[in-house]
Amino acid sequence: MCSKDLKYSCTFCGKHHSEVENIYCATEHKCICDECLELCNEIAKNREITIKVDLGEDGSIKSVEKSYNAG
Ligand SMILES: [Zn+2]
Repeated sequence: MCSKDLKYSCTFCGKHHSEVENIYCATEHKCICDECLELCNEIAKNREITIKVDLGEDGSIKSVEKSYNAG
């Protein structure tokens, strides 16, 4: 019954952890579900973008770096 107490939901699409297969959390408030992760992978593949996220010690996002690969 304790899973009800979990408040993890995807930061990107807002889906609750019970609505998706997997959810990955850096912190309680920084989570991504497998659906969004897959979408990100697709976007990254299609547009050849590399996204580098720098997390601070407290899990907050320090910087997001996007690199566009020319080919
Ligand atoms: Zn999501």
